[in-house]
Amino acid sequence: MGSISKPHQVVRTQPLCPVCGEPSYSRDGIHPQCNVTRNDRVRTKAHKAKVAAKPKSVSTPWLKRCPKCSRQVAARRHTCDCGHQFPHSAGG
Ligand SMILES: [Zn+2]
Ligand SMILES: [Zn+2]
Repeated sequence: MGSISKPHQVVRTQPLCPVCGEPSYSRDGIHPQCNVTRNDRVRTKAHKAKVAAKPKSVSTPWLKRCPKCSRQVAARRHTCDCGHQFPHSAGG
C-alpha cells in the first residue's frame, strides 16, 4: 500500500470575512462591524424587494377612459359607445 503523494501545501484554515474579504479571527469569521454592515444591507435589500413586490396599478396604454361614462374604450377609437367624442390627439 503506497501512500498517495499530496502536494505539499500549508493551508491555514483562516476564515475570511464574507463582507470585506479580510481574514478574521472572530468565531463566526466575520468582523463585528462588518456583521452590522451586512445586516444593514440585508435589511435594505429586503425592504427594496418588498417595495418591488408591491403591486402597482396596472395601466393599459391601449385603453382610455371616457370622461362621460367612465368606460374604458380602445385608445384608437374616436367615439365612445355612449356617443362621447374624444378630442383628436395632435399629430395622430
Ligand atoms: Zn470584515
Ligand atoms: Zn362613454
